[in-house]
Amino acid sequence: MSLLIKNGRVITATDDYIADVFVEGETVVAVGKNLAAKADREIDATGMLVMPGGVDPHVHLDMPFMGTFSSDTHETGTRAALFGGTTTVIDFVLQQQGHSLKEALNEWNGRAEGTAVGDYSFHMAVTDFNDKTRAEIKEMIEKEGITSFKTFMAYKGALMIDDRQMTALMQEVKLQGGLVTVHATNGDMIDYLVSRHRAEGKLSPLYHYLSQPEVTEAEASGRFADIADYTGCPGYIVHLTCEGALNAVRNATRRNQKIFVETCIQYLLLDASLYERDFEGAKWVMSPPLREKKDQLTLWAGINQGLVNVVATDHCPFMWKQKLMGKDDFSKIPNGHPAIEHRMELLYSEGVHKGKISLNKYVEVACTNPAKIFGMFPRKGTIAPGSDADIVIFDPQQEHTLSANTHHMNVDYSAYEGRKITGKVKTVLLRGALAIDNDKCQLEKGYGKFIRRDKVSGKI
Ligand SMILES: [Zn+2]
Repeated sequence: MSLLIKNGRVITATDDYIADVFVEGETVVAVGKNLAAKADREIDATGMLVMPGGVDPHVHLDMPFMGTFSSDTHETGTRAALFGGTTTVIDFVLQQQGHSLKEALNEWNGRAEGTAVGDYSFHMAVTDFNDKTRAEIKEMIEKEGITSFKTFMAYKGALMIDDRQMTALMQEVKLQGGLVTVHATNGDMIDYLVSRHRAEGKLSPLYHYLSQPEVTEAEASGRFADIADYTGCPGYIVHLTCEGALNAVRNATRRNQKIFVETCIQYLLLDASLYERDFEGAKWVMSPPLREKKDQLTLWAGINQGLVNVVATDHCPFMWKQKLMGKDDFSKIPNGHPAIEHRMELLYSEGVHKGKISLNKYVEVACTNPAKIFGMFPRKGTIAPGSDADIVIFDPQQEHTLSANTHHMNVDYSAYEGRKITGKVKTVLLRGALAIDNDKCQLEKGYGKFIRRDKVSGKI
């Protein structure tokens, strides 16, 4: 099967030109003006943007958490991602304390294999680092193609590791050519603030926000950067939300150390005033919480300064009845919200359409950088001969409104209900196959492939 996309405006992280894209099988074969190639199918992309499929490196599908499971499976989550122009996601495998990495991987493989519609990979979350875990790091990188290891400096008693384990893990990951990623907030401070608020009877969602002040994130981000610098291990801070934390990174990178920063679309667009809406604020209970307007400005600037490398989602949806588990106590509200479907369109509308970032920067932070940092480039994250034909054809003018009534995520509310945006995904290809067309998903479950990733040492 071959396919020719004619006359689109091809955008990569560095290019912007009108051209045809010729796809054969799963791969882009040629990009150029007036290609003479004969194809089985032609798509006229006049007036459209032709961009690489989005890569969302931070999603939680079918994840056991706080006594329940996130409500999107690998099937519904990756399908919703495709509707929004994201063709590859990286999900998190969570090691259980006292158990091996391999056991956890088997469990996640069991849920994802044969069900994912879009392509996916895994980060391995290390929650218990000991001599046995150490021996598994090399195997994960070389045998399984899992090259990034997630750590939590928070969620004390469940997922958190201490600095001793962090140092030891970083030494091993550095040795084996991988990358350590982190949820960087001070778990002890947060643990104390949560218990103090509960003891004082302050139980509404607002106190979720007030239990995780900016300093908890700034402190941990700086500490993580310091340990990474000492060990020489490349580091990646997930869902960075605020000025204090970004300044810690700004300072750390003066040492020329490899610290990459991800923010998420919600931290660019939404703010903490939503927590003043009584229990409705539970829709946006996530960790870290939404911040202030001044932090949004810092994050947009950070993208343009090259300090914020990636815009992801931390997609972790829960049905409203699951959120109600915390009706009388904010600390029991499952943390997370739905976003996987809307990242690309929201970032376009708010970022490019409103003039905050360029089109090239848009592709860089939503597609190219996540593919590069996590060892999938140039297979994913760009449009070039030899790359996977993961392509989004995007109408930059079309206006539409986001709503739970029309979204494809398996969750009964929208974090952006009624929001009007400009720019819409029209057609999506995944490895050369028509994935989204005419607002319909054309792929069956099980089409999505696990993407093995390369070592990152020497490449980032
Ligand atoms: Zn997360």
